[in-house]
Amino acid sequence: MRAVAVIPGKENSAHLREVPDPAPNEREARVRVVEAGIDGTDREINAGLYGEAPEGESFLILGYEALGRVEAVGAEVGEVSPGDWVVPTVRRPDGCPNCRLGEVDMCLWGKYKERGIKQRHGFFSDDFVERPEYLIKIPEALRSVAVLLEPLSVAEKAIRQAFRIQRRMYWAPVKALVLGGGPIGLLSMLLCRLRDLETYVYDRDVPGSATARRVEETGAAFLSAQEQSVPDLARRVGRFDLIIESTGNSRVAFDAVCLVGNNGVLSLLGIYGGDRTLEVTAECIGLKLVLGNHLIFGSVNAHWTDFEAGLNDIDRVEQRWPGWLAKLITRRLPFDRFQEGMTKEKDDIKTLLEINPAV
Ligand SMILES: [Zn+2]
Repeated sequence: MRAVAVIPGKENSAHLREVPDPAPNEREARVRVVEAGIDGTDREINAGLYGEAPEGESFLILGYEALGRVEAVGAEVGEVSPGDWVVPTVRRPDGCPNCRLGEVDMCLWGKYKERGIKQRHGFFSDDFVERPEYLIKIPEALRSVAVLLEPLSVAEKAIRQAFRIQRRMYWAPVKALVLGGGPIGLLSMLLCRLRDLETYVYDRDVPGSATARRVEETGAAFLSAQEQSVPDLARRVGRFDLIIESTGNSRVAFDAVCLVGNNGVLSLLGIYGGDRTLEVTAECIGLKLVLGNHLIFGSVNAHWTDFEAGLNDIDRVEQRWPGWLAKLITRRLPFDRFQEGMTKEKDDIKTLLEINPAV
């Protein structure tokens, strides 16, 4: 079968190759990949920044956002059947206490594997095999946008965690801020709007842009980084009960600390790598954070229940803003043109690879 793979650590090594067809064992299903989303992580792996091949192999098949259709199941699989639409989850457990309890997104030892990222092949291939507990069944009516379920699950987890942590007191959030207008940011915005929060999205795009319009269509407000800095937001809009940071820019993330309102919470979803040093106003950390009972937490990956919650929310979004989710898919590429997807284009939100679109 065809697969798009990289040589981990080697810059721009993404290539199409033939690999053996995967054969399911008795506890696995074989899934035909219909379409798959390209994300920043795929591009960073292709840039050689990270990514690990499965043990004993020299290449890693990319891809961790996929929609597929079950083709065949092993004799002991009863949870899914041929013809079912499915979205796979990404992370696979090690033997740590959290993983043993099904909380692989909260893995304690860090020896988990991730499909398309760390020691397990991903989904940029004609087929893959997987155990049914890692497949989320998709209702036929939602399949057209179900490829967005994986990034949505990341937003679901962050917001679920925020609300859960905030049970430390009476908490009735009114104002939410999402930093970053990429897929995770816009999906986080949707979850805030589904809760009828007064929601703001801060992004480097300009007012009137496609991103700004998408934001405003949901009743959220668009704030452009071209017109105001992050610290300006406190003066112009006030402080926020809930902030979701998804830019991956450490300056933005630390400036956001000063935007948290009393009893508020800031969730960091970006990956803030490198050895950059920053100056932070001591007053923000030492005074506002303490005197305001602020909370900052990081969140990564998602629990399978976040995928289930995401499916439910896709249904609610489709009813409330029909057609909105489909507009996040800004580019569709045939599988053999995957290279074009390795570069983000202007106004690109989500690029899909159409791997077996006729299935
Ligand atoms: Zn673990």
